[in-house]
Amino acid sequence: MSQPAQLLRLQRIDDQLRAGKQRLGEVIQGMNEPQSLLDLRESAETAQQTLAAAQTKQRDLELQFAGLSSKHKESNDHLYSGKIKNSRELADLQQEVQMLQRRKEFLEEDVLENLELVEAAAEKVADANEVLAAAETEWQVKYKDLQAEKIALATSLNGLIGRRKQRMATIDKRMLKTYLQLSQKKRNGVAVATLKINKCTGCQTTQPAMIVKQVEQGELVYCNSCGRILVQA
Ligand SMILES: [Zn+2]
Repeated sequence: MSQPAQLLRLQRIDDQLRAGKQRLGEVIQGMNEPQSLLDLRESAETAQQTLAAAQTKQRDLELQFAGLSSKHKESNDHLYSGKIKNSRELADLQQEVQMLQRRKEFLEEDVLENLELVEAAAEKVADANEVLAAAETEWQVKYKDLQAEKIALATSLNGLIGRRKQRMATIDKRMLKTYLQLSQKKRNGVAVATLKINKCTGCQTTQPAMIVKQVEQGELVYCNSCGRILVQA
């Protein structure tokens, strides 16, 4: 195999290495939890906090209601105990019982209203948790796939690095240096281009017959337009 042909082999390995490293970067990046999942987790937490606040308020209201009820009952029992003879005292007590009754009614409305809020909040928590659980499951599957891909890529990249070393050992040092310098300069590291009939596949420029002949003979020749090393396809 001619030296330029060896370079082409090396370039193919380098192409695979570059693509593999890029994909590895994407895979590692992709293993971070996605923002959408973080958002869902936050929503579920917020829903839970709203529910907890409504439940606390509900307990408060119910305690208040129980206190008011027993006070009302106490006053009412007292009113009808037959122990109060003074008419003024009786009227005052009657007024108090009525006032307590009204307060009880208002509070009862609050209790019921808040109960609706508790139920609505509980429903939201259930919904948010369901959506979150589905997203978590989906993410876990994706994460496992990415993890497997990462391991496979690392293995494949290690293999390529080994093959690259072997390939480089077979190439003339000066040629290798030229190749490495060219691949730094050229887009996507393409330093070596094949000839298609008489055109450089790197830049599509037709090459003079003499260059085509040199390429056929496996000599080190550069494209007269883009400067890439030319090899026989
Ligand atoms: Zn060219």
